[in-house]
Amino acid sequence: MKGKVYLVGAGPGDPELLTLKALRLLRQADAVLHDDLVSPQILTLVARKAQVHDVGKRAGRKSTHQEAIHFLMIELARQGLQVVRLKGGDPLVFGRAGEEMQALRKAGVEFEVVPGVTAAFAAAASAETPLTLRRTASSLLIMTGQFADNRPVPDLRPLIACGTTIALYMPGSDQHATVEKLAAAGVPRPTPCALISRASTGAQQTTVTTLEKLPGVAAQAKPSILILGDVVRLSKAGHLDLQTLSAELLAMQNTAEREETDRA
Ligand code: SAH
Repeated sequence: MKGKVYLVGAGPGDPELLTLKALRLLRQADAVLHDDLVSPQILTLVARKAQVHDVGKRAGRKSTHQEAIHFLMIELARQGLQVVRLKGGDPLVFGRAGEEMQALRKAGVEFEVVPGVTAAFAAAASAETPLTLRRTASSLLIMTGQFADNRPVPDLRPLIACGTTIALYMPGSDQHATVEKLAAAGVPRPTPCALISRASTGAQQTTVTTLEKLPGVAAQAKPSILILGDVVRLSKAGHLDLQTLSAELLAMQNTAEREETDRA
């Protein structure tokens, strides 16, 4: 059989958030190359016959060079194996899949991308916060807090002005630095935000606060993601922790509740 590489999204952690296709491929795989973010419960679903390689790059631990990952994927596929390159969340969101697809194309190895549930979606679900909201948030920005070349965060003022929710992946553990970076990019300091750790797992944790108060928040386990924007006011904890809802959101909520009662 001809070898093939599947770049598969493992989702945010909960095995039930794997796609049926991801599950089938894991059960059929001859080889699996996985990242650190992939949860142990998901790895138990891998076919017994498969060779499993941990090619994670967690900071502070011996990591696998990106080129070594390319080499391994290509070699295994050339041996005629069905190779699953398993990544946390969605493979095309901060997953270095761009480089891996380039390497596979260059080597003439057939591949296919299988999407997964990205962290922002799992985090929003666990905080019960919408990511878009009629009249309030009409766009979603997926952004990293850690630019590969230490570039400053680009000017976000125009996006903020027209109501954009920000999902900040890899926010970093220095909350002061995160606040200053975002404030310098034009995110107002009183912007509501939710810090969500280990979304979709039994250990998930959410803290709702504002950007300026973020440094006072107790440290949370990794991985964590920061969701910023007015939408956070509507989250589960936002109702309790943030002072008053803005007049507009309050009006919207009242209307929604009235409609609900009318329907009932
Ligand atoms: N491809 C992944 C993102 C990889 S970058 C995806 O689509 O989700 C790694 C970052 O993703 C982490 O630093 C964290 O910000 C975020 N992340 C991944 N899984 C998470 C989870 N279960 N809960 C919260 N954040 C998570």
